[in-house]
Amino acid sequence: ADSLALAESLIVSIPDYPERGIVFRDITPLLADAAGLRTAIDALIAPFAGTFDVVAGVEARGFLLAGAVAITAGVGLVPVRKAGKLPRPAASVAYALEYGEATIEVHDDIAPGTRVLLVDDVLATGGTLAAAHELFAVLGQTVVGTAVLMEIAGLGGRELVSDVHAVFQG
Ligand code: 5GP
Repeated sequence: ADSLALAESLIVSIPDYPERGIVFRDITPLLADAAGLRTAIDALIAPFAGTFDVVAGVEARGFLLAGAVAITAGVGLVPVRKAGKLPRPAASVAYALEYGEATIEVHDDIAPGTRVLLVDDVLATGGTLAAAHELFAVLGQTVVGTAVLMEIAGLGGRELVSDVHAVFQG
């Protein structure tokens, strides 16, 4: 518990980034700390031990966690990418952002029945991770859960992503 508190203290709140009125949670100091990173990765996957075959990280900060999760849990890694980045046939889901729209994609040849753990750094409105759920549903994959380092409360994320496990609340 002490090591978790220490890890949490390494997440820095940046006012007015990337826009006025937004408080951005910067996880890079946590990533840079060996003990903090180890503690955070262990806590991220603790509820899901033995339940997933691959970890799917959402571009871009989800990638930073997914690699560590994959090696720690002994599973493979699937990148969920922004539109147009994957070289082979992919499933696509478009979703609404505060301003405009975004599309995420995943290669469509993941073996049927693969059990997927979704990972990202932060749950805010939940739009991104809800779209990632839809992506794997389209492919007939089972999402066993969603893991984030930090959930920002009060933005409705948990309503859209009801299976989320958050290591920290912010
Ligand atoms: P949502 O779709 O839940 O509104 O936003 C989540 C996405 O935006 C995640 O991919 C996350 O990386 C990014 N994001 C939103 N707010 C923050 C923040 O305060 N800190 C960081 N590191 N990422 C954020």
